[in-house]
Amino acid sequence: MAKASASLEHMYRVFTKPEGKDSKLAQIEQHLSDNLSDFLSQHVVTNAKSLEEIEKDFNAYQVPEQPEFVSEHAEVLLEKLVAHSVNTYSPTFIGHMTSALPYFHLPLAKLLVGLNQNLVKIETSKAFTPLERQVLGMMHQLIYSDPPSFYETHLHSAKQSLGAFCSGGTIANITALWVARNKALKADGKFRGVSQQGIAAGLKHYGYGALGILSSRRGHYSLSKAMDALGLGREQMLLLDCPTQRLSPEKALELAKQYEDDGNKLLALVGIAGTTETGHVDPLDELADVAKEIGCHFHVDAAWGAATLFSKTHRQKLKGIERADSVTMDAHKQMYVPMGAGMVVFKNPEDSNAVRHHAQYILRAGSKDLGATTLEGSRNGMAMMVYASMNIFGRQGYELLIDQSIEKALTFANLIERHPDFELITAPTLSLLTYRVCPKQVQEYKSLTIQNNDLLDRLTVAVQKQQREAGKSFVSRTRLTVEKYHQKAVTVFRVVLANPLTTVEDLENILEEQLDIAKKTKSWKEMMSRLEQIPLDSRSVVNK
Ligand SMILES: *Cc1c(COP(=O)(O)O)cnc(C)c1O
Repeated sequence: MAKASASLEHMYRVFTKPEGKDSKLAQIEQHLSDNLSDFLSQHVVTNAKSLEEIEKDFNAYQVPEQPEFVSEHAEVLLEKLVAHSVNTYSPTFIGHMTSALPYFHLPLAKLLVGLNQNLVKIETSKAFTPLERQVLGMMHQLIYSDPPSFYETHLHSAKQSLGAFCSGGTIANITALWVARNKALKADGKFRGVSQQGIAAGLKHYGYGALGILSSRRGHYSLSKAMDALGLGREQMLLLDCPTQRLSPEKALELAKQYEDDGNKLLALVGIAGTTETGHVDPLDELADVAKEIGCHFHVDAAWGAATLFSKTHRQKLKGIERADSVTMDAHKQMYVPMGAGMVVFKNPEDSNAVRHHAQYILRAGSKDLGATTLEGSRNGMAMMVYASMNIFGRQGYELLIDQSIEKALTFANLIERHPDFELITAPTLSLLTYRVCPKQVQEYKSLTIQNNDLLDRLTVAVQKQQREAGKSFVSRTRLTVEKYHQKAVTVFRVVLANPLTTVEDLENILEEQLDIAKKTKSWKEMMSRLEQIPLDSRSVVNK
């Protein structure tokens, strides 16, 4: 076989000339666009190869010396990488927030890569900059519903921005807290602001011991990354336990006051609209009151839940979000956009200026360069995918998708509750729920369940692992403190019903598969033998 040669001529060819219709790469492209689901089920193998085995395929640490033909390399990718990827398209992969995508993203992704725009500055993005501003405006309007004149003034203004587009919820949360920090330690008299003089000078000027944020223990770990990166310290996160899975406004107020009485400043109160683990929504309206009373920034992390606003039926679950100073949202979650599309929007567009940076060769003062107010530098035009999706689905299309996932979650919760050997741990608010296997005989008596919680935890872990390894279906697992078990943590299966292709039958099959696995485990058998040791009549006496 001819070898690719390290000639400049060959390099030019790689830029300009595809290998032709019969090449391997062309075949892959054709298969992908004909039927993505078929492509994935054919190429992503389900029989598990251990991670250690896979690592052996990625052991080379030297840059390859010789070039390779594109098609040859495509074969390698299929074999080593694609084959052992995760089939997120699969309707029985219900453990994470990553699901199937509508097919149009494939050709659009090609267009996006082909154009290769850089949104950091208008000179390399042109129409993409107004497009991105429009997308941010649409999200802003979805949350805050300001009058037309507001958007006419601010949508394309060089003076401020309605938000920041970024790679995901993590950067969005960091950006929101960055804004909050710079506002809390803004320039004042001789003090030139924290962005110029740093934290130590800021705290000294304002006479604060420390700057902290308050959230529920269910807060996403990106908040703690933010506290670390912003130089505020993870220990300045006031996290309240939430056995009901929702932050208590009374406790939040009490803790915030105490923190400030101790000489500190509460930088921001963070409400969550759709917790990552259970999908609960904090009481946002009441939290807005708390933030107002304390006089701090109110941020809502709606990375998962923001898309609920498309639904007329369910949007009231997020009531109060319109009072947030900033909101994080991820289009790559419930908006079915490919990975890499997060946003933070600001109620007051002036807030974007708290983090404005200028540079001589780009981002000049007065320019409309988005890079002046974003944490990230070079960024691709993912906003195009969000824009296309919003047009292709429309609000009504998204509403249908959101409504059906919540309905499906309720149906699944119902299946679990009716099943004698499963126990629902948290019911769905949005399309997430948690549950576990718990044998009927144990469930009948609450105190028995408590006595067996350690075995039940082990059972859940074993079932989740074996189910994942079998490769037919996937749920994730987490540990939750729940009211029912006297604030003790229990291990649970976590399910996210985001994939529109998941059917009720798929869910029934998953329960059946889990029960089959469970009955063969050591923990199940141990529980059964423990039960046998308790005389029948005393069981009811002890437990009622
Ligand atoms: C997913 C998620 C994040 C993080 O978003 P990334 O896009 O993964 O960076 C933050 N907060 C919540 C509530 C989330 O669900």
